[in-house]
Amino acid sequence: MSNHTDVLIVGAGPTGLTLALDLARRGAGFRIVDKAPEEFRGSRGKGLQPRTLEIFDDLGVIDDILATGEVYPPMRVRVGRIPLFQSRMHKRKDPTPAVPYPMVTMQPQWRTEKILRDRLAEFGGKVEQGAELISFEQDGHGVTATLGTGETIRARYLVGTDGGRSLVRKTLGIGFEGTTRKEERILIGDVRVTGIGRDHIHAWFRPGRGLVVLFPMAGTDTFQFVAPLPPGAGYALTLDGYRRVLAERSLLGSVEVTELLWSSLYQVNIRMADRYRAGRVLLAGDAAHVHSPAGGQGLNTGVQDAYNLGWKLARVLDGAPESLLDTYEEERKPVAAHVLGLSTMLHDKRSHKRDEETQQLLLGYRGGSLASGERAGDRAPDARCHLADGTPVRLFDLFRGPHFTVLTSGPVPRFDGVRSHEIGDWERIRDAYGDERHVLVRPDGYIALTTSSADELAAYLARV
Ligand SMILES: Cc1cc2nc3c(=O)[nH]c(=O)nc-3n(C[C@H](O)[C@H](O)[C@H](O)COP(=O)(O)OP(=O)(O)OC[C@H]3O[C@@H](n4cnc5c(N)ncnc54)[C@H](O)[C@@H]3O)c2cc1C
Repeated sequence: MSNHTDVLIVGAGPTGLTLALDLARRGAGFRIVDKAPEEFRGSRGKGLQPRTLEIFDDLGVIDDILATGEVYPPMRVRVGRIPLFQSRMHKRKDPTPAVPYPMVTMQPQWRTEKILRDRLAEFGGKVEQGAELISFEQDGHGVTATLGTGETIRARYLVGTDGGRSLVRKTLGIGFEGTTRKEERILIGDVRVTGIGRDHIHAWFRPGRGLVVLFPMAGTDTFQFVAPLPPGAGYALTLDGYRRVLAERSLLGSVEVTELLWSSLYQVNIRMADRYRAGRVLLAGDAAHVHSPAGGQGLNTGVQDAYNLGWKLARVLDGAPESLLDTYEEERKPVAAHVLGLSTMLHDKRSHKRDEETQQLLLGYRGGSLASGERAGDRAPDARCHLADGTPVRLFDLFRGPHFTVLTSGPVPRFDGVRSHEIGDWERIRDAYGDERHVLVRPDGYIALTTSSADELAAYLARV
């Protein structure tokens, strides 16, 4: 393995893996290192939002994700044996031409990571496990990083996807403002349980003791066990501890935890990095923002950070102006601020209901420096329509891949590295894409520019 690379990705959670995969399919040089000796085993971030599924479609992993994942089953809430109510966390929705993946999909985080790793391997990429970043320094040309293995790596850029306790963020001295809810801890583990079915999420609530929820993990014989702990309570990360919490809150002798496979104690932190970039070093995912797991936003926001950054980094490596990297923080920091607010609100309301806001389909980059023209910055939705020669197409098929796409209702303009398509029945996509003759769609699926001027289109592409 060469100790010179274009991008050193530090941390192989979902954020680092998504970035590695995006760079790999673009043929960019990178290495991805993780301090853990082996792959992560826990179910942690288990809700994949509709927008993330669209990204996974683009990255070529959607079939594996959907084949092994499941829609959340209904939740049955009880006090002891007494049923209180039953409801769904997510409204049932059918796919539409604009939103092909409308339902949140349950997938244990370890499997999402495995699917991303397997896809990365198809491009020849591999995570280097047991390779901890110890220190780094940067100069005008690159970053020199030292690993615990003793190796020194020289990279043009370093991306810290090293989680909430990010060494990269701390080394840069970037502030991580916010709060730690010291009194709020959540016991979370993967368990095997007897005495309950797998067709429901089971929740028990006991006044004075609290809540315990068992999520049947898609495609496994395990449950994710989630129990907020009361302030000051002694915690127990052992099988006996989990049994005690369940017994106290469910009052059921018939339900038994038989095995504990993974366990953690989650401290609620609500924090955001002051900056996402310092020179040649960038932050993404939990390294840049952490919040309550309520609403299932963390993993999803990290995946989208990486997806926003991947194409920009690749273009800068290919000679685009470095200022393109500034748009990463400009676009993603407001999203993190929004997500922090949303997840805190859901956490504090203790609401189990989820809606459009948590699906991340409405998030976009309107008004940003990369958005020009009506609707620019909006997510570019899927649609079924026809090319000018009558061929039926799905827009996501045209967008899939690392390129920019031009949709046009007039003569097709040609640019290097850009795919242009003349749409024969523009009226089918007018609601989403407007009336201008050309719509430029970014590699990460947002409308960059709407214009009727081919010169304006050329100028925009030259700029990025
Ligand atoms: C109970 C719970 C439920 C959750 N539910 C959801 C959910 O439903 N949906 C959702 O979107 N999110 C959820 N989350 C949040 C989600 O798990 C995280 O947001 C997500 O894992 C962040 O991904 P990441 O890649 O940014 O960081 P991480 O997954 O933390 O990965 C960081 C990686 O960096 C490595 N690393 C750290 N330091 C170094 C170093 N110095 N050198 C090399 N490697 C290093 C670590 O070993 C690790 O592999 C949940 C979290 C919890 C705790």
